[in-house]
Amino acid sequence: MLDYHVHLWPHPQLADETDLAVERLAEYCEQALAAGVTEIALTEHYHRFTKGREVVEAWWATEPNEELRAYMAHYFDHHATVDLDRYVETVIAAKKAGLPIVAGLEVDYYPGLMDKVGTLLDGYPFDLLLGSIHWLGTWMFDLVGSPVQMSEWDVRGTDPTWLAYGEAIEELAATGTCDVLAHPDLVKVTRRMADPGIVTEVEERICEAAVSSGMAAELSSAGFRKPVGAAYPSSSLLERFFSRGVPITTASDTHGLSHIADRSPELGALASRAGYSSLRAFRRREGHDVPLGEANARHLRSADTGADLTDSKYVP
Ligand SMILES: [Zn+2]
Ligand SMILES: [Zn+2]
Repeated sequence: MLDYHVHLWPHPQLADETDLAVERLAEYCEQALAAGVTEIALTEHYHRFTKGREVVEAWWATEPNEELRAYMAHYFDHHATVDLDRYVETVIAAKKAGLPIVAGLEVDYYPGLMDKVGTLLDGYPFDLLLGSIHWLGTWMFDLVGSPVQMSEWDVRGTDPTWLAYGEAIEELAATGTCDVLAHPDLVKVTRRMADPGIVTEVEERICEAAVSSGMAAELSSAGFRKPVGAAYPSSSLLERFFSRGVPITTASDTHGLSHIADRSPELGALASRAGYSSLRAFRRREGHDVPLGEANARHLRSADTGADLTDSKYVP
């Protein structure tokens, strides 16, 4: 198994420079290995980095909604504090020390600016880039703890928001900037589900975006820790990915050590059930397949409980 979506810092917390040390990354790898995960990808947010901000900060200035514009500016003030070179150098040093870790970044979609984002990131030896839609324009639709952001759902409506999310995924994929679609159906995070016909249409469009761009898709346990209480993507979208030959990674989206390799056995069982027998790993932006079977088979029976993880109660 892989944990190909790992952050160092929780969101309300300012980055702690001492976390950027090989010894600290070794702790992540140790915990992951203990949970049967053989390789992790450090994928800190693009917007944690001062150099990242410099490239995109003109983007929110054009947001007409003053409240959303101010929120995004404040968000970058809080988050964009880390030196990108130091981050990459630390991961490279960890790789050289023999740790099972690859260098990544989680990149949001900045309409009209992805060429510039790509040019900045091409200057670094990344192994993979996750592509994410957390924002529609400057609306942070997934920030479930923010009343300002959540009230916007009522203004825009659930069906139009799902359709806008599908369109944003298509646009992001078409830029060719990233390698893996992170949490592909994140739009369900709050449990506001669109009309079933629209859900199906959006899932089709997400799958087609992955196929036409050559991106892999992520199978993530993060949704279990959110109001939706389910993996990203849904089993219907995962099966659709499999039927169209879209490779997958597995991921916790932990922010800190607390959820490293979270629910890895369940992710393995979900992937198997959808038909997958391999996962997509990356080196220097090139994908290669690693077998799911061995690692998964070891964990189909939980060491903690003895429970059979293929039992339906573990697979929503
Ligand atoms: Zn994300
Ligand atoms: Zn993330």
